[in-house]
Amino acid sequence: MPELPEVETVRRGLDQLVVGREITKIDVFEPKSFLGQPAEASGHRVTGTRRRGKVLMIDLDGGLTLVGHLKMTGQMVYRETAPGPDATRWGAGHPNDSLIGELPDASSRLAIHFEGGSTLYFNDQRKFGWLALIPTDQVAAIPLLAKMGPEPLEGDPWPEFRRRIRRHQATSVKAALLNQEIVAGIGNIYADEALWHARIHPATRVGDISDRKLKSALGGAAQAMRLSLELGGSTDRNYVDAEGRRGAYLDFANVFRREGQPCKRCQRPISKTRLAGRGTHFCPACQRPPRPRTV
Ligand SMILES: [Zn+2]
Repeated sequence: MPELPEVETVRRGLDQLVVGREITKIDVFEPKSFLGQPAEASGHRVTGTRRRGKVLMIDLDGGLTLVGHLKMTGQMVYRETAPGPDATRWGAGHPNDSLIGELPDASSRLAIHFEGGSTLYFNDQRKFGWLALIPTDQVAAIPLLAKMGPEPLEGDPWPEFRRRIRRHQATSVKAALLNQEIVAGIGNIYADEALWHARIHPATRVGDISDRKLKSALGGAAQAMRLSLELGGSTDRNYVDAEGRRGAYLDFANVFRREGQPCKRCQRPISKTRLAGRGTHFCPACQRPPRPRTV
């Protein structure tokens, strides 16, 4: 599942390619993937792009917004219809061959056509992702966004994060970090990185963790996300360019998908377990298991 930096990568790419373009038509191939009336977008120009947590927004003139969630396998791919040596080809999101192949393909759920002949495809193998066309002034009220926790990379998220996570004292900290109503945009990768940074075992109950350590975990998530964006989130991570070059996906990771490899802090091998239904990576030496609670 794409997390904040991956969705931000998609947003930055879209911002460069579609802002200022007028939509001529939206073709919906999979009704389940689109909420709203696609014809209502015709004739509207893209005025900007936004992101909140893992949710993407493409604002149109006339008070309309396309809101979207890539979920597990969503991707956005932009193509100029008449291919030529200079034709722009761009794609970001779930890394598979639909980023570089002929489109539409079997994973294409809808196509947004622009004046001048370019097309933005929304591809999604597993069909959990969606796009919705809704009035811009109703976007903030959709439950997913209305309930969402603070943005980890904007302002000082700590006071609001603390207020929200302290309502879940009996929850494991791993599950709490994945809860979008506690903090926005963190998924499995950045939750594991955050807890390694703060030296917290992922199974520890929130109530057993000091404010100082929780603040360190939030800072660790933000640090890993910034690094991920810097290391090419905006250019080649989760991204395949026209030549089919794939970015170095997890070069920044300290624990994620590094089971058996030495911890970058203490050299002991990283472990993998299952927690909150997710593969969870941690250093058994730096991140000691919670002590059994005594009565
Ligand atoms: Zn270690």
